[in-house]
This record gives sequence, structure tokens and C-alpha cells, in this order.
Amino acid sequence: MLNRILTCVLLALLAVPGTAAAQSKLNVVTTTEDLASLAREVGGDRITVEGIARGYQDPHFVEAKPSFILKLQKADLLIVVGRELEIGWLPPLIQQSRNAKVQVGAAGYLDASLGVRILEIPTGQITRAMGDVHPLGNPHYWMDPENGRLIAREIAGKLVEFRPADRTYFEQRLADFNTRLTAAMARWTAAMAPYKGMKVVTYHRSFPNFAERFGLDIVGYVEPRPGIPPSPSHTLELIQEMKRLGVKIVLVEPYFDLGTPNAIGRATGAQVLEMPPSVGGVKEAPDYFSLFDYDIALLAKAAKAAGLK
Ligand SMILES: [Zn+2]
Repeated sequence: MLNRILTCVLLALLAVPGTAAAQSKLNVVTTTEDLASLAREVGGDRITVEGIARGYQDPHFVEAKPSFILKLQKADLLIVVGRELEIGWLPPLIQQSRNAKVQVGAAGYLDASLGVRILEIPTGQITRAMGDVHPLGNPHYWMDPENGRLIAREIAGKLVEFRPADRTYFEQRLADFNTRLTAAMARWTAAMAPYKGMKVVTYHRSFPNFAERFGLDIVGYVEPRPGIPPSPSHTLELIQEMKRLGVKIVLVEPYFDLGTPNAIGRATGAQVLEMPPSVGGVKEAPDYFSLFDYDIALLAKAAKAAGLK
């Protein structure tokens, strides 16, 4: 009898390590697939990561689903883009999750925008009542890989805070990510170098950080203001300006209607390209590196076709 009890205890003890390891994985939820990809780079197999918005959705306007609340209920750490990108859908989800760990200001709430380079910070009085969805500067900052580097560092710091015993693991993964990013940056910069100063128009203001890093000159937008749909008068002005400047490329995020961009393309002879500003925006871009691989190859091919050099 005693032997049997001892055997049971031993078996239970043997089963513990595996169970404990599975349970100790930090449960990370991110608002976007971009942040999920960066968290995976750093967290490896010590964390589980789930993104909320899909990369083919407009991150400003995500339809809230009950499943998102379930994700947040289980989360140890929530990573957000911030700068009010998610203000239209995230706050009620956080509230309804009733998870104290991920409420704004809690240790498990990480705003990835706090340590990065933010462009287009308004100087005058800007309110959302004016229709502007970028009241705190441009929130699409992850489109500069050097900001991606800073985001990864912030995430690593937070993971170490939660799991100090895994510090070496996270720091090694961060170092490895940085090495690969540096190599990729050299490749991307070289691919874009022949087209430095290339003039483009974009639908939404999703690419200022990308443009600054890779030498694009964004001369106009299909939207009159961020979050405001195109109007006939603005479109006409844009067509005239594009003709005057000889703009040959219009970049459209995958979630916008192509009607107006195609009309602009017909009027100006410009190519209209669907260019994802997020991981998961197209199936060829399942992670942070392949996103830039895809976008840069797309741009280089279009620039070549347009005879830009
Ligand atoms: Zn935006």
C-alpha cells in the first residue's frame, strides 16, 4: 500500500515539471500582428503570443468581437501600438475583460510607442472632432525597422521584468534579432538606393516612417485627412498635382477600396500598388522581416517598370 502511494507521489512529481513549464509560459496579447511578430522574435518558446487585429484590417477601425475579450481575460501582458491607434475599439475590450493585469497603467500594459521615433506630431490644436485619426502623431511607426528594433528592446525589457529567471534567454534572442535586422536593413537599403527621392502618393498616412527610412518622397494622399474618405474635389487637386510632379506610383493599404486610386491611376498613368503596412496584410508577409521584403520588392519592381532611376 505504502509502495503504491509512493509510486503515485513519484509519478505526480515526475509529471510536474512538464506541466509547470507549460503553465509558466507568459501569455502575451498584442493589438496588431506586427507587435505579435516582434514579441515572438524576443519571447521565443517562453511565451505564447496572440494578436487581435489582422494585418489585412484597418487598425484604426477593428470590429470588436467577444473572442477578443476572452483573449484579454487570459493575458499576462498586453502590448499596444498606442498614439490612439486603437482608441476606437480597444478601451471597452480591456474594460470588459476585467483583467486587472492589463488595464492601462498596470504592469501588464505596454505601450510600444513610448520609446520610438514618432513623426507628424501636431503642433496646433487638433481634435478627433475634425476627423483626424492621428491626433497624437503618426501611429504607423513600426514601418521603420529601426523603430522595430526599439520596440523589440522595450518588449525584451518587459519580458525580463515578468520572468527575471529567463533574462539571458530573452537577451540572447534580442541580440540575434538585432543581428538579423542589421543584415536585412543593409539589403533593404541597397534595394531602395537607386530610387532615392522617388515621388509617391499613398492612400492613408501609413508610410511616413517607411518613407523617411528608405528615401521615398510622399507628395500627397488619396484621403483628404487621415480617416476621411476621398472627396471629388480633393481627388481632382491630387491628380493635377501628380501630373505636375510626374508621380508614377500610388500606394494603397489592402483594406481600402481601389475605386478612387484606380481612377487616379487612369488619369495620371501612375501604377496603383496594394502595399501592406502590416504583418499579415498579404499572405507573403507572415512576419516582420517578410513584410519589408515584400514591400521593398514591390516598390523596386514598380519603380523599375516606371523607368525611375
Ligand atoms: Zn493611421
